[in-house]
Amino acid sequence: MGARLELERALEIATTAPEQTVALGRLLGARLEAGDCVALLGELGAGKTTFTSGLGAGMGVDAALASPTYLLCCEYEGRCRLLHLDAYFAERLESLLGEGLAERFQEETVIVAEWAGRVAEWLPEDRLELTLDGEGEARRLVFRALGERSAARLEGFRQALRASPGLPQPADAAGAREKG
Ligand code: ADP
Ligand code: MG
Repeated sequence: MGARLELERALEIATTAPEQTVALGRLLGARLEAGDCVALLGELGAGKTTFTSGLGAGMGVDAALASPTYLLCCEYEGRCRLLHLDAYFAERLESLLGEGLAERFQEETVIVAEWAGRVAEWLPEDRLELTLDGEGEARRLVFRALGERSAARLEGFRQALRASPGLPQPADAAGAREKG
């Protein structure tokens, strides 16, 4: 039961070009609802902003997304509001969060946070974690749902992916099980 639950709440996908990572972001973005939080983890250049640009497109955001590294927080209107945060400069973002930004998480908005580990305590507990790593043009994307809401979103994403044979598919169940 435990192992099965673990499988359902995690998903690993490999991409071989930025466009694929964007396409996965778009697929997830199309399924997100106000109140959802996506927490992005991974080093500089891992693909967090690249993934988010697709996610914004999937949410119906018209504009190209900027990197919020220096801006700390960018706001967009799509099907619902998108707050794109970046905690690279964690202390600066924490100031903003303390000055009222965190209260806006209660509004009808999707939150996507880069360097999410640095401000984890400010984020909704039930969030979809995505860790990116790799080199060259290869990236490994590992999704992990931290609660019921994010697990439902991950399941929707998994089904949408299955119906999109042109996109990279998850590592098989056996591989995921080995990783525990
Ligand atoms: P981060 O926000 O994590 O610092 P960015 O998304 O800004 O990273 O940058 C990722 C860089 O890696 C971009 O220049 C992108 O074109 C490149 N890249 C190469 N291959 C991939 C891939 N498979 N997925 C995502 N980005 C990739
Ligand atoms: Mg970035």
